Parts: sequence; C-alpha cells; structure tokens
Amino acid sequence: MTKYDYIIAGGGLSGLSLAYYLNHSTLRNKSVLIIDQDNKTKNDRTWSFWEKGEQNAFESVVHRKWKQVYFYGNGAAKLLHLSPYFYKWMRGIDFYNFVKADLATNPHITFRQERIERITDTPDGGFVTTEKGQYLAQYVFDSVYALKLNESQNHNMLQHFKGWEISTPKPVFDTQTPIMMDYRVPQRGLGVYFCYVLPESPTRAMVEHTVFSDALWPQEQYDAELTTYLKDVLKISEFKVEQVEYGVIPMTDEPAPTHVSKHIMRIGTAGGFVKASSGYAFQRTQRFTQQIVENLVTVGNPHLPKKTTFKRFKGLLDSTLLNVLLQSRYSGEAVFASLYLKNPTPRLFAFLDEDTSLWQDLQTMATVPLWPFTKGMLAAVRKRIAPASPPSL
Ligand SMILES: Cc1cc2nc3c(=O)[nH]c(=O)nc-3n(C[C@H](O)[C@H](O)[C@H](O)COP(=O)(O)OP(=O)(O)OC[C@H]3O[C@@H](n4cnc5c(N)ncnc54)[C@H](O)[C@@H]3O)c2cc1C
Repeated sequence: MTKYDYIIAGGGLSGLSLAYYLNHSTLRNKSVLIIDQDNKTKNDRTWSFWEKGEQNAFESVVHRKWKQVYFYGNGAAKLLHLSPYFYKWMRGIDFYNFVKADLATNPHITFRQERIERITDTPDGGFVTTEKGQYLAQYVFDSVYALKLNESQNHNMLQHFKGWEISTPKPVFDTQTPIMMDYRVPQRGLGVYFCYVLPESPTRAMVEHTVFSDALWPQEQYDAELTTYLKDVLKISEFKVEQVEYGVIPMTDEPAPTHVSKHIMRIGTAGGFVKASSGYAFQRTQRFTQQIVENLVTVGNPHLPKKTTFKRFKGLLDSTLLNVLLQSRYSGEAVFASLYLKNPTPRLFAFLDEDTSLWQDLQTMATVPLWPFTKGMLAAVRKRIAPASPPSL
C-alpha cells in the first residue's frame, strides 16, 4: 500500500483550497492524494463572498465583483457602499478548473475518483478505505464527514435555496449593483426568507430564493416564490431559465472540531468552517486552509490554535442569533434589516468575519433588539451548560 504524506478526502472547496496552498508552499514536494467521488466537471455551485481589495489567490476566476449592493427590508431600501470591501461572485466550475490546472503541474499530487467508505486512525497514520482501495497517510484532511445536525443541545437550522440563472429579452438588470438581500417576499413565520440578484449583464442574472428554517421545501415551492418575486417585485415577466442551482447549508452550533485524532483533521463544513449565523464559508475556508499550511511549514503539524475565550464569545453570538430565529423571538427580516441598515456595511462585514474588537462587537450588537437577543443569549448559554440528551435517530 502506498503511503502518502497527505490525503485530502473530498476535492471540493476546502480540499482543493488546501491542495492549492500546499502546492504554493515549501511543501510542494510532499506526496498528496486527493480522493473525490465526483470529477468536479459541473458548475455545481456558485460562491458569493466579500473581501477587502482585489487580491486573492483566485482573483483571476472571480466571475463578477461589485463595490455596492442594494438591501431591501422592513419597508426600506438602501444602497450600501462596501469600500474597502468588494462583493464577489465565483462559479464553482471556474474554481475547480483553475485549481486542477495548477495542481496538474505537480507530479507529487495524485487524484483518484473513488467513493470513500471509511476514515480511521491507526498507529501508522490516517487510513482511508474507498470502494476501490486502501490508502495511508501521515495526515488525512477529511471534508466528507457529515455533521449530525440532530442533537438537542445544539441549535440546528438549514439554509436552503434555489436559484435560477435567467436571461431576458430586454435589458433589466443594473450590472453595477447586485441585490444582496431582498425581503419583499412572503415572510412565513419561523425563519428568514429573502431573494438576491447577482447581475451578469443587463439581460442575464442569477436570482435566488433563500430560506433559513428547520425544514426543507418541496422544489415547486421555491419555483413558485421565484416566479412571484420576478413578476411582482422585479416586474420581469419575460425570462428564460438558463441554469438552476439548489443547495442546503447547515447553520449550526454543533461542535465541529478540526483536530479529531492524531492523524485525521476535519476541514470545510465538516470542520466547522461555515459561519453558523450566515452560512458563508468561502472566505473562512481560505483563511483556515492557509493557516493549516502555514502550521505544517512552521511547526510541522496542521493543528489550528485552540479557540480563545473571545472566539468562544463570538460563537455564542452565532448561537444567540440562531436561538432568536428558531424560537421566533423576533422577525428574521427585522433582525437582518437592523444589522444591514443601522451599521456601516464594512463594520458589519468585519463583524461577520470575526475581525472586530469587543468594542466593535458591542456597537454592532447594540443595533439589534435588546430584549429578544438577551433572552436568546441566556437560552443559548443554558443549552451549552445543560447535560446533553441522546440524539434523535
Ligand atoms: C449550492 C451551494 C451554494 C453555496 N454558496 C455559497 C456562497 O455563495 N458563499 C459561501 O461562502 N458559501 C456557500 N456555500 C457553502 C460552502 O461554501 C460550500 O458548501 C463549500 O463547498 C463547502 O466546502 P467543503 O469543502 O466543506 O465541501 P464541498 O465543496 O462540498 O466538498 C466536499 C467534496 O467531498 C466529496 N465527497 C463527499 N462525500 C464523499 C465520499 N463519500 N467519497 C468521496 N468524495 C466525497 C464531494 O463530491 C465534494 O467534492 C454554498 C453551498 C452550496 C451547497
């Protein structure tokens, strides 16, 4: 059996990002095996994210980027100026092709298209069993582990969405300004409901309907909401659906440690890289995978530093928001309208990126309704200290 230095289980966003940064480090001579059941030749998702400036490793495959966005909510409309941030949109397929071309120049990196069945730790290293073989490595980076999402001591919500990339016979989209959140859609009680629009040209855009709730919808319901939004809110009656995107992102405070055993490290959604209160993961994935490579280079192991008290406090803020939404303590629309309309957007982005000081956190939190969030925070603390009940099956 060949022993690799590193096995990357799952060649999606986190696996390929990690491989890319390894390939651009002093570790580029290490043997790396990337295993994915899919060959990643389809545009299976698109990523939106904000970022300061125009420098990132994948800037050449950013599909569109903007300096301003619209927000509609609580009866208000606002143009948000983002500087020094840009709001960026990247197509999955462009990212996969770019990284695969980069890795193809390195003979020490091998791809295998196989379904992983088990990942275990052994005294000799991390051991991966697939439908076709068995592989060993000093470190296995696992992005295929599925979170449980059913434990009562955690807050578990789902961000589910369907998007249509549409073309129109007449120019109708403002290419300078996407709509980041538009709450002019029916609000259906528990949860959060909004649409967003990413313009590609005056006659083409991605229009997506997003829900944060505890259960998924039948496909027809997203279709009906998208049709109503296009016709009644955007006043677009003639359009053709060119591509469809559907996805589910866990919004959870389920503990998702990265360092699970001596030779196995979880990354990506499996390693808690998704921000629980927003579902954004692209930038956090870049930050954490770069840190892993930096640690491998400088100290010889990939472990991320333990969470400080301040980071745990930021995690408590995520749990608080989830609690407010799951318990319907306040309307989701009103919460996000407060955050986006009452804060300078750069401060809000920094807050969501966990790049803010305690003082900036307090300033941001002062913009949300005090009493529902105080109750939400107390409930979140109680959940954390309460003994765990057995998971539902
Ligand atoms: C449709 C969609 C849109 C999203 N949009 C955004 C966005 O706009 N902005 C943002 O920040 N985040 C977004 N996210 C959230 C997050 O960024 C992505 O889910 C991201 O791809 C997570 O990275 P990952 O590496 O954990 O998982 P993935 O990218 O899904 O990679 C996991 C890989 O593992 C492979 N795999 C799984 N099981 C096995 C197995 N048993 N054997 C072999 N291979 C296996 C899969 O084929 C996949 O390639 C989106 C998610 C989805 C689903």
